[in-house]
Amino acid sequence: MAWGGRKYDAIVIGGDLNGLAAAAYLGRAHQRVLVLEESATLGGVAVTGEIMPDYSVSTVTHLVEALPRSVERDLKLAKHGLRMAARDIPTVVLDRDGKHLVVPRNRKDIAALAVAQPKDAAAWRAFDRRMKAHAALLAPLLLDDAVPAASSLRRLVWRAGWNRADRLADLLHLLPQSVGDLLDAEFEYPLLKGALALDAVLGGADGPHAPGTVLRLLHRMAMRSLGRGLSIPVGGLGAATDALAAAVVAEHGEIRTGVRVSRLMVEGGAIAGVETSDGVAIVAPLVVSSLDPRFTMLGLLGAAHIETEEARRLARTPLPGSVAKVNLALDGLPEFRGLAPAMCGARLLVAPSLDAVDHAATDFGQRALASEPVMEITIPSVVDPALAPAGHHVMSVLVPFMPHDVEGGWPARRDEFMQRVTKTIAQYSPDFAGRLIAGDVLTPPDIETRFGLPGGDWYCGGVRVADLPGPRGPATPVSGLWLCGPGTHAASGVTGLPGRDMAAAFAAERGRR
Ligand SMILES: Cc1cc2nc3c(=O)[nH]c(=O)nc-3n(C[C@H](O)[C@H](O)[C@H](O)COP(=O)(O)OP(=O)(O)OC[C@H]3O[C@@H](n4cnc5c(N)ncnc54)[C@H](O)[C@@H]3O)c2cc1C
Repeated sequence: MAWGGRKYDAIVIGGDLNGLAAAAYLGRAHQRVLVLEESATLGGVAVTGEIMPDYSVSTVTHLVEALPRSVERDLKLAKHGLRMAARDIPTVVLDRDGKHLVVPRNRKDIAALAVAQPKDAAAWRAFDRRMKAHAALLAPLLLDDAVPAASSLRRLVWRAGWNRADRLADLLHLLPQSVGDLLDAEFEYPLLKGALALDAVLGGADGPHAPGTVLRLLHRMAMRSLGRGLSIPVGGLGAATDALAAAVVAEHGEIRTGVRVSRLMVEGGAIAGVETSDGVAIVAPLVVSSLDPRFTMLGLLGAAHIETEEARRLARTPLPGSVAKVNLALDGLPEFRGLAPAMCGARLLVAPSLDAVDHAATDFGQRALASEPVMEITIPSVVDPALAPAGHHVMSVLVPFMPHDVEGGWPARRDEFMQRVTKTIAQYSPDFAGRLIAGDVLTPPDIETRFGLPGGDWYCGGVRVADLPGPRGPATPVSGLWLCGPGTHAASGVTGLPGRDMAAAFAAERGRR
């Protein structure tokens, strides 16, 4: 049946960034789209919320890492209200003695590195050139719609070989390596190694000494090269969701919140529509799921519709949520020893060394709370003062390597976790503790239950080095059923790419028919 007497060409399950991007792209292709979102709020983990009245922050996801220009342009996101409070912000690795390091982006930063560690400044130039050259090969493949990562990797290797044999040899040498080994071979400066190691492993379950983590670093560099640098939207990540929702509506799409899809309907081997948890059947020849592939295929579709081996593979996909979030309200800007107040608007890393990142990963493997947590911190109110009352601030802290099933259970350990986080930040900022007026903790199980992200896993089962050749493309074995979430090609992050890729792959398939 058509809902309210309306007929739809496509139903998108999940009103998060990727689902909305898919819906907007399908709308541009003249498809009549219905988006169904279980929660009362759109956005999934890309939402803005209050820590306490008048103190707002990006509740989970806090940085636009790689929103490609093409997606911003195609969906007219600026016209639909998306503005950046800051673009291309630098990354600063904090040092307890105030000798912070700006991860080099230009000559001035390299000169500063040369003062701290001359050998590393020389090594940086060659390392940066080498990694950027490999990331540049990977980046177009991420934009290459409908190319699943398996063939992406094959094409990456082929392009490297076609370009230059020595580059291919270098790439083949690098791909299986751990980022820890690579950094140990290249650099000495602990802050630099800590920052690069954290960049490679943030969001995943592998530590920096896990084989294949160089690929993770290259993947992140390639993703970032597609966008306009690390950016903070005015109004937080919820503003990105709002702009995407406006893009859907502008393309005559319809969005319904508070509707849970409980089953996919299949007729004659092809998708026929969805059934909601209220028992309403909505018919459409195309269904696009922004949920993780495992839940979509096994939970909504049912193993009977897929090959046994594929069902087994999906059932085995681990979803190891590993990142917790802490949001803090502060009655003033904390002073970080040796850091100019304007630099407090940068991306601040607590990753004092490669060992520190490795220890956090080791603790994670033992289901322990890291004794010295590593962190990615932003203070978005520095660049977007409307987030907090005048002179006050909000701080957003991602804490990787936090186990979903922490030993002793999260209810018993939540306060201890908060204390470890605030105590660690206070080591860099002596007045921080005195400025703290309120705080919220979101553990991986909280992220799973409150935002519908299975396991709280950043990658929804995608980009897992142990599973190379990598995540799937948007097509599924069932005609009319497509995927557009972070477990697919182009993977996670605030990119809109999985949604765009899905719409492009669908258009290509329709063109062939
Ligand atoms: C802690 C954390 C921090 C992160 N920080 C960053 C960051 O700073 N920068 C960055 O680029 N990336 C970040 N990421 C990654 C990025 O946010 C995610 O990859 C991406 O936003 C999540 O994918 P999504 O938007 O497709 O889906 P999700 O946000 O998982 O949304 C899924 C949606 O589907 C809905 N839903 C679920 N089941 C149903 C159903 N049966 N019926 C209808 N609707 C349903 C949910 O309610 C939800 O709205 C972070 C991830 C995590 C976990």
